Amino acid sequence: IPMHARMDPGGNVRVVVRVRAFLPREIQRNADCLIRMDPITQTTTLLVPNDQDPANLRSKSRKVVDEKSFTFDNSFWSHDTGDAHYATQEDVYNSLGEEFLDHNFEGYHTCIFAYGQTGSGKSYTMMGTPDAPGLIPRTCEDLFERIAQAHAETPNISYNVRVSYFEVYNEHVRDLLMPVNPSQPPYYLKIRESPVEGPYVKDLTEVPVRNIGEILRYMRVGDASRTTASTKMNDTSSRSHAVFTIMLKQIHHDMDTDETTERSSRIRLVDLAGSERAKSTEATGQRLREGSNINKSLTTLGRVIAALADPKQQGQHSTPKKRGTTPQRDAVVPYRDSILTWLLKDSLGGNSKTAMIACISPSDYDETLSTLRYADQAK
Ligand code: ADP
Repeated sequence: IPMHARMDPGGNVRVVVRVRAFLPREIQRNADCLIRMDPITQTTTLLVPNDQDPANLRSKSRKVVDEKSFTFDNSFWSHDTGDAHYATQEDVYNSLGEEFLDHNFEGYHTCIFAYGQTGSGKSYTMMGTPDAPGLIPRTCEDLFERIAQAHAETPNISYNVRVSYFEVYNEHVRDLLMPVNPSQPPYYLKIRESPVEGPYVKDLTEVPVRNIGEILRYMRVGDASRTTASTKMNDTSSRSHAVFTIMLKQIHHDMDTDETTERSSRIRLVDLAGSERAKSTEATGQRLREGSNINKSLTTLGRVIAALADPKQQGQHSTPKKRGTTPQRDAVVPYRDSILTWLLKDSLGGNSKTAMIACISPSDYDETLSTLRYADQAK
């Protein structure tokens, strides 16, 4: 059995965890690995170091006194220690991204979130590096390959791909593809609700793209524009949730009847604000507001995903329904409690597939425990 086989296709919510490899500075200080992963049961175990005893804090190896275990849909290991269950970027794509893209070609929406503290591997998982591309470039590559193949096989279907990129910062929405004027205050977009399409961002830039190069160029434009400000914790990490959306339209032309039918689907790829931002203790004023808004979005997102994963609700969203016509579901899924979940409502629940990738560092006990608990209550 391949270690990172595609996940159980049943259910529309996946919660997975990925531990990142040690960074050079962690290797240098001989950091302990506090994580164990069992490739058979997909259990992630966090070893609890005895930090209460000051002697242990100074000693090279923190004495482990306890352990906490969590089971997820998948546990991705990144330490290249020769373990059979080491998960490369390709493995992560194969076990999650590919299945989601299949779903998009069937005409449904998907949404993938990367959650975790700053430095835990969120952007590595989503964007990756030129040598080790992550989920977003792999999804784009696969998308255009499939389109090229479909073109050759079924010339009566044509495809239209557009992208948008926005960030939610302090419960405001900013268009990352609109050029910024540094001398002007930030320009926030308004949120509207359409009876058919549900909530949407008014006047959001949507650009047509023909190949992966064009998509990646727009991503870079948007990344450069992402809100960053400095705090005591880290100078460059982002405090916003970045939502990259690929809109796929399949236009089917029936040669016999001369009729045209369209199928639209959205691929949402979300790099969430660092989870440690939600409870930063040294913040005041603007930073404090920022922290409580980040907390509100992340808490609401966790509750929304938990509600969608709850088997008691399966009956309510397993039957196809027209978008925007599901008032009963709104009552139990708290989409409205944050801007992020409200705007992603179309891609969460219903026939959409949702994945939460909880990213963790190998040797940060407190933040890792908080991330694992968050992921655990979301599933
Ligand atoms: P975040 O986006 O959560 O702030 P990053 O993705 O920037 O974190 O990751 C922090 C550092 O760790 C980067 O240098 C990144 O290349 C490295 N890294 C993250 N995940 C992995 C991984 N799975 N394997 C190897 N290196 C990783």
